[in-house]
Amino acid sequence: MILPARHGGMGVRDPTERVAAAYETSTKGTSLLVSTIQNGDPRDGPPFNPFQHRADMQQAVRQERRATDEAAKERFEDGLQQLPPERRRAVHRAIEAKTAGWVTCRPDAEDHTDLTPDEFRDNMAIRYAYEPPKMPTHCDGCGAPYSLDHALNCGVGGLVIRRHNEVVNVLCDLSAKAWGESAVRKEVVIVEPEEGEKGVRMDMVVRGVWERQKDVSFDLCVTNADASSYRNQSTASILKNKAKAKAKKAYHSRVCEDKSIYFTALCVTVDGVWGREANGFFSRLVEKLRTKAAWADKSYSQVMGWVRARLSIALARSASMCVRGGRRRWKIRQAGAEDGAGMFVV
Ligand SMILES: [Zn+2]
Repeated sequence: MILPARHGGMGVRDPTERVAAAYETSTKGTSLLVSTIQNGDPRDGPPFNPFQHRADMQQAVRQERRATDEAAKERFEDGLQQLPPERRRAVHRAIEAKTAGWVTCRPDAEDHTDLTPDEFRDNMAIRYAYEPPKMPTHCDGCGAPYSLDHALNCGVGGLVIRRHNEVVNVLCDLSAKAWGESAVRKEVVIVEPEEGEKGVRMDMVVRGVWERQKDVSFDLCVTNADASSYRNQSTASILKNKAKAKAKKAYHSRVCEDKSIYFTALCVTVDGVWGREANGFFSRLVEKLRTKAAWADKSYSQVMGWVRARLSIALARSASMCVRGGRRRWKIRQAGAEDGAGMFVV
């Protein structure tokens, strides 16, 4: 918890632990300034140089950060070894893929990066693979014993589809900011279903991503990498297989090729590890955003951080919805109301 987010913690600093190192850094960094204030400029040396003072300060801070990072890495490795294998896997994945966007981004209602306390707690549970507090004993959708794993996988009640749609909404919003509202279409039917044949529907089509004026269709797949069926696979291979074996890809690619539309599968785990194709798309998205006036003065890493934070928050929010949301199906009884308004009954 007290480790930095990039080293597997939650970035909550303990001042009593840091005070000794911070004092030493401060003493080192300000030694020239303190000596000048106490004794004045040296008679046989150069006068006080504010640039030298700044360089000393920066070097002291750099040294402390390096030492803190080393200590955090060691502490993380020690803690990791004490976890059971299934939890070790989830925590290790969080570090490898740097999925702490929702932990470190500043909550801002305008950017939709604010989480409720429950959403925050649930995602901590997903990050460290433990059961969230106050969970029901049984699923209200299918009646199976309830667990984090079940909550993230149970398709009853449409929560898994809503999770998928929440992330698609953010992808559409970001794409519209980059390529313009008119270049983005959501839930596009590429091929109408016919008798005995399934149609082809894409989550999003954006014009101009890889080539000018050329449409690219995107299909999103959110998967739980900790599901029991994936226990023996690495996250990279899960995402790779999803992108490939999502039989849609081959089929869609062919259909899209026929219609001169590119196809890109965007695969992501519930805790925010994106596949190779998705990362390529984000690079393109950030490059395009930086050509807009609102982002022109921001660096590539700043804009990428913002994009990833928005997606990370959308995933966090929707994962919590799967954990806390109701799956019970509501029946609507007309109850004889003359205006046709229904009444919800359990
Ligand atoms: Zn269920």
